[in-house]
Amino acid sequence: MDQEKIGKFISVCRKEKGLTQASLAEKLGITDRAVSKWETGKSLPDASIMLELCELLEINVNELLTGEHIVMDHYKEVAEANLLELQEQKQKSDKTLLSIEWYLVAVIVPVYVLMVITGSYLANKGNIVLGVVLIVTGLLATLVVGIIGLKIEHDAGFYECPNCGERYVPTMSAVVWSTHYGRTRKMRCPHCGHKGYHKKVLTREKGGI
Ligand SMILES: [Zn+2]
Repeated sequence: MDQEKIGKFISVCRKEKGLTQASLAEKLGITDRAVSKWETGKSLPDASIMLELCELLEINVNELLTGEHIVMDHYKEVAEANLLELQEQKQKSDKTLLSIEWYLVAVIVPVYVLMVITGSYLANKGNIVLGVVLIVTGLLATLVVGIIGLKIEHDAGFYECPNCGERYVPTMSAVVWSTHYGRTRKMRCPHCGHKGYHKKVLTREKGGI
């Protein structure tokens, strides 16, 4: 996906509609800095805003993602290629996020253990304040890493229901309060209501990885 081309296309379409960056941003309820970032190719419009943006610019999503007006003959091919590429990008970044989570856990657990051992040792030796500070700091750091990890697990990929095969994104609280082993979590399927262990998958299509 050519972000620069898409950016220039947004800029051209916006001017054709007689809109400034600021007035387009206002209609979308975002900052004009975000619009400027799209137009300079630094970022892509968020998926949640794409449809509204296309409506305002009177183009369709595929034209937006291709960065040009598409003649109807090629429309379907281009549409499929774009969709596929978007999915691949999301899958790749989800994979990165999930491996970051493992690194975080791998770092924080030994650090935490070390802080508790050192803290207890110091407390035993009479240095109670420093000992307690160490233990509490270790606890807080572990808590922060835990929250980051949960957020990553919620945002990256999908969970699959073993009963109906539905793949879904659960609510944040379902992720936080569910029992789990590894990334498999005990949750209720929003489709069939099955309650059981649902495993993490990277794609939404059934049968994918
Ligand atoms: Zn189900």
